[in-house]
Amino acid sequence: IQKNPAEPEFHQAVKEVLESLRVVVEANEEKYRKEAVLERLVEPERQIKFRVPWVDDKGQVQVNTGYRVQFNSAIGPYKGGLRLHPSVNLGIIKFLGFEQIFKNSLTGLPIGGGKGGSDFDPKGKSDREVMAFCQSFMTELCKYIGADTDVPAGDIGTGAREIGYMFGQYKRIRGVYEGVLTGKGLTYGGSLARTQATGYGLLYLTKELLKINGKDIKGMTAAVSGSGNVAIYAIEKAHQMGAKVVTCSDSTGWVYDPEGIDLDALKEIKEVKRARLTEYKNYRPNSEYHEGRGVWSIKTDLALPCATQNELLIEDARALVENGCIAVCEGANMPTTLEATEYLQANGVIFAPGKAANAGGVATSALEMSQNSERLSWSFEEVDEKLQGIMVNICHNMDAAAKKYGFEGNYVVGANIAGFEKVVDAMIAQGVV
Ligand code: NDP
Repeated sequence: IQKNPAEPEFHQAVKEVLESLRVVVEANEEKYRKEAVLERLVEPERQIKFRVPWVDDKGQVQVNTGYRVQFNSAIGPYKGGLRLHPSVNLGIIKFLGFEQIFKNSLTGLPIGGGKGGSDFDPKGKSDREVMAFCQSFMTELCKYIGADTDVPAGDIGTGAREIGYMFGQYKRIRGVYEGVLTGKGLTYGGSLARTQATGYGLLYLTKELLKINGKDIKGMTAAVSGSGNVAIYAIEKAHQMGAKVVTCSDSTGWVYDPEGIDLDALKEIKEVKRARLTEYKNYRPNSEYHEGRGVWSIKTDLALPCATQNELLIEDARALVENGCIAVCEGANMPTTLEATEYLQANGVIFAPGKAANAGGVATSALEMSQNSERLSWSFEEVDEKLQGIMVNICHNMDAAAKKYGFEGNYVVGANIAGFEKVVDAMIAQGVV
């Protein structure tokens, strides 16, 4: 805290991860102390902060701050998204970069941890303004990234449009056509199944986790929150697996459809019309629409939070337990508060943390890197099959790591340990660097 003041999110992330690793750290105390493993782990290999000047539509020069934190490259090139949001600061980028190290390690693919972004707000900006910002941002960032060095991706505020502008500027300055960014359009190196990957991956992991706990997802009911990219494809895969999703939500309200969410209607409202969920009733007269929050009050077997951070609170956890919920699997990043997580675990609910359960997105980004390196595009089925294998593996690895240290069934501890061990082994093997 003295070394890095004013970075509360980073301190919180480090504390949470290290506390859950206590048992591993104590078992290896002497070795870790001598090698200063933890001290090295919490210090980014490199952090870059830079000026991003651009001209707005009125001819006025604007100045934003750009960041890239290259946290850990022990197991592969730095990999992690670029967040464009006014709340971005160094502490937030460091917190996300730190978490990314373990998530990427868990996928079993050769990707290190990093994160970046800017305090630029794309909301309300014209296409030309967004392009001017992205080009200026990449003009500086291109000095530090590359297909074998650091491969950024999208995140909040950075979608296909922004990735396209950044890729174009990288190619123009560096003069190389390489897979330096993921989340690209399909016409210039993007991967099939990337759009579906996080939602589908969540269900592949959930199904396997239920299976190793002696349960079958087929025939179960599920509550989903959110109605964005992760939520839509989670609902799609859940239905394909024979489960019935009865809720979805956005930031103003939520829908309860006892017959199961009509995915065609949801996609049309959210992906085509870009409208609010109030429209859902026009397609499904028997459904209910409620203002505010409330998806966790419905009696279901599964809860899949897919909207945003801190959206499943202690009172929601209590309601879920009371209604006999069997499992909570996180599609979003950090949707369940710490208090709610502990309550669910203490009451026998199977709990899969986002670090493991939503890793399908970054895993498929790593598959995009592989396709770019061999200058080939795999079919949707090929990518989807690999994704399925990766999620099943993650599930077994976190289960095995929890068991190995006497925490059977605690997948929060299991996921942290499984991700941590591989990175630390690689760091020690590579010497004092
Ligand atoms: P989107 O922006 O596509 O969707 C987010 C959804 O959540 C929207 O329906 C949004 O509603 C809703 N939402 C936002 N804030 C709230 C709130 N306070 N209460 C209720 N609903 C809310 O994002 P994604 O689906 O891509 O991401 C969702 C989560 O998953 C995020 O935590 C993200 O970091 C995480 N994630 C995403 C990955 C990906 O590949 N997309 C990969 C790994 C993690 P509205 O439309 O009203 O804003």
